[in-house]
Amino acid sequence: MKLIFELSRPGRKLTLLPPCDVPAYTLQADLRKAPPHLPEMSETGISRHYTELAKQTTGVNDGFYPLGSCTMKYNPKINDEAAALPGFTNLHPLQPEATVPGALELMQALQESLCAITGMDAMTLQPSAGAHGEFTGLLLIKAWHTSRGDTARTKIIVPDSAHGTNPASAHMAGYDVVNIKSDANGCIDLEALKAACGPDTAGLMLTNPNTVGIFDHNILEITKIVHEAGGLCYYDGANLNAVAGIVRPGDMGFDCMHLNLHKTFSTPHGGGGPGSGPVGCKEFLRQFLPAPVVEAGPEGVHFAVPVHSIGAVRSFWGNFLVLVRAYAYILELGKEGIPEASENAVLNANYMRVKLAKRYQMAYDHTCMHEFVLTLEHEKHALGVTAMDIAKGLIDFGIHPPTMYFPLIVHEALMIEPTETEGRETLDYCIDALCQLYDAAEKDGSGLHGAPYTSPIGRPDEVLAARHLVLKYDFGGGES
Ligand SMILES: *Cc1c(COP(=O)(O)O)cnc(C)c1O
Repeated sequence: MKLIFELSRPGRKLTLLPPCDVPAYTLQADLRKAPPHLPEMSETGISRHYTELAKQTTGVNDGFYPLGSCTMKYNPKINDEAAALPGFTNLHPLQPEATVPGALELMQALQESLCAITGMDAMTLQPSAGAHGEFTGLLLIKAWHTSRGDTARTKIIVPDSAHGTNPASAHMAGYDVVNIKSDANGCIDLEALKAACGPDTAGLMLTNPNTVGIFDHNILEITKIVHEAGGLCYYDGANLNAVAGIVRPGDMGFDCMHLNLHKTFSTPHGGGGPGSGPVGCKEFLRQFLPAPVVEAGPEGVHFAVPVHSIGAVRSFWGNFLVLVRAYAYILELGKEGIPEASENAVLNANYMRVKLAKRYQMAYDHTCMHEFVLTLEHEKHALGVTAMDIAKGLIDFGIHPPTMYFPLIVHEALMIEPTETEGRETLDYCIDALCQLYDAAEKDGSGLHGAPYTSPIGRPDEVLAARHLVLKYDFGGGES
């Protein structure tokens, strides 16, 4: 398909704008060296161009999207209606506090709901993503140790079943990362944890359920071991849709955590945002939270600066309209709906896992939480068919591929997360598609090496695409 600049024709335009009703302003001549490159299009042309673009992409509204650890679930449209209310969209972040009591109240109510769901005592809504929340939480841990004069704690323990952002965030926060291995069940090896803990332990970051979809049954023992060594416990709650309304990290001994509103709380994501990764903490860490926080006082809800705040972690108050969507979602589901959603997420994953186990090798053969991992290591050697081939084959069934080659501790991994918003027919359709692909692989896998056959692009060179990002149109003449 053509780029909009290739469709552009000099002089073609859309004259629907009303006449200018403010004095015209002429830019200083030397500020602009050349006229801006803007495509010149008719309205019909623009409309067709964007419709064509929309057809070339895929999203949760096109079909099943079981991308593990991403929670690509359906987002109720009413959340968007709420976020589109002019009272929210017309706010400016620099508006005086006294003019935005409704927005403050919403933030306060959301903080309270998230505290109730997680068992935390305080919450900041500032961080813009899960990884950003991790970084913020680690700064809280650091501030706590530093405030006590304990500067010897330079290490963060991260199990090998953690999400990839965990070690990256620990490193960014200035910590050394101590990796510990999982046992055969995909859980933390307690002996390895004990051996790793010591006077240099600042804390542990635990992804739970972990990236193989398993809830660590030793969770209470784990937080006890870390606390006894003087470390704090961080809970990666990005995937809270496995446990929300059922168990709370705050009751399991965790001191701080983040949530991904753009996963669990149904706000749309993909393509890079906007996201929101609120961080919750126990009372003793509240004093370090990023500033400002939203607090309820006798005169109403207001902004406040915690006494030993680590400072702002982003501009203004976070991605406010994402907060509106998440709050709408929490109100829609309520006390009964939240645990029911979690139960359905776990039920759907286990339904698929058990049915697929007849054909595919599961990485861990026991009950999972919201996602599960299968491995094609045997098929790669026996049939020459890889996880990539099966994942690409699914595209021809109208299904978005699951996460591939992650987690790293499983070879030829496919990580499937059906989410709670899918019905049985969709799950059955995907199970059937995966079984058909398996049969095809057994008969003659060579056809699968070329899949997908039905999509606008098939197998891009992902490394090249990541290393040589081409995001600008080349107008020629060395100018862009
Ligand atoms: C998605 C995810 C993250 C990172 O969240 P981003 O918003 O992408 O930064 C961290 N941990 C887990 C377990 C996740 O699934």
